[in-house]
Amino acid sequence: MKKIFALFLTILLVTTVGCTSDLENNNQSDSSQTLLSSDVAVSSEEASSSGIVSIKQDITTLQPLKAHFLDVGQGDSIFIELPNKETMLIDAGNNADGNKIVNYIKNKGYSTLNYLVATHPHADHIGGMATVVESLGIGGIYMPRATTTTKTYETLLTTIQLKGLKIKTAKAGVSIINYGDLKIDIVAPNSDSYKDLNDYSAVLKLTYKNNSFLLTGDSETVSESEITANVKADVLKVGHHGSNSSTSNAFLSKVSPKYAVISVGKGNSYGHPTADTLTKLNKAGISIYRTDEVGTIIFTSDGAKITVDKNASSIKENAPPQTTTSSKITSSTGGKDYDDTPITNVGYIGNKNTKKFHLPTCSSLPAVQNQVTFSSRDEAIASGYIPCGRCKP
Ligand SMILES: [Zn+2]
Ligand SMILES: [Zn+2]
Repeated sequence: MKKIFALFLTILLVTTVGCTSDLENNNQSDSSQTLLSSDVAVSSEEASSSGIVSIKQDITTLQPLKAHFLDVGQGDSIFIELPNKETMLIDAGNNADGNKIVNYIKNKGYSTLNYLVATHPHADHIGGMATVVESLGIGGIYMPRATTTTKTYETLLTTIQLKGLKIKTAKAGVSIINYGDLKIDIVAPNSDSYKDLNDYSAVLKLTYKNNSFLLTGDSETVSESEITANVKADVLKVGHHGSNSSTSNAFLSKVSPKYAVISVGKGNSYGHPTADTLTKLNKAGISIYRTDEVGTIIFTSDGAKITVDKNASSIKENAPPQTTTSSKITSSTGGKDYDDTPITNVGYIGNKNTKKFHLPTCSSLPAVQNQVTFSSRDEAIASGYIPCGRCKP
């Protein structure tokens, strides 16, 4: 039985990859266009290769752009209403979130997603996506060329196939739309293979006149450092739920956002977001918005000004370190393919002054304002800290 399943999966993957390369090699026969409801659904890339003059739409008199960072607990899902009334969904939370997301979109008056992006195949990003694909009209689907063998991923691929949809490869250099004033570009991944599935994350830059959003999925510092496109943005969806493995200082200064959104579950077992990330954002004077604190967050842009419907987080600089010790939470997917390695212990506490790091149980911990947390021993050492002689971490 297992063998049959493996065979089925292999065929499925081969077919999917086959479809993708077909599409890339032959833009002129892009059948996905027929699924788009709008008459301007010719991307500049396709247009230039097929000899059609790129159609630009006057979007100045239309609705404002709205980016809804949906509260899906520990996961990501971003619904975007574009000024030309097209829609985009980036990620779809965990399995149990599918219906919630569909209802949210329907309640806004839409029955079609013109663009659907799965940043990477972790269950907290694609968990609800099969339900979304089943329930709504779907235009273009973008996914990075990364595979995994989870049930969630396999179900999503099957659902996409059954609906007769084709997957376009999400990678740096792909332009999803380019209507002049309104652009959506994929700026990562820049490589073909990574050790960590998170680094395959499709990173999107959305630009509407003078406003821009950078949506990073779970991309980590490896991918961040490879991005050559201009990532400067007003709003940053903080990578990997605010984990230490993302949002390097170099990357943050390139983006230099005014607003940061952290999509994260209350009391999650991963210790997300980390005190380090919060401190970094605070020090840079960035207003932080967290879904675990205020629920769904809606940013509205008229192309010149951005407004937010919620209050920023009141976290002060030098936020206390995370003390999460709870065991791994039971995910809606049964935990089998749940995202990321959970932090099973508090990690390590460093002293900013002495540059020594300790076990959380050490008797000579520094004062709270001098503490910095590390999720692993390696991380502490890589940051230039040395082990405490007393607790010998
Ligand atoms: Zn994630
Ligand atoms: Zn992930």
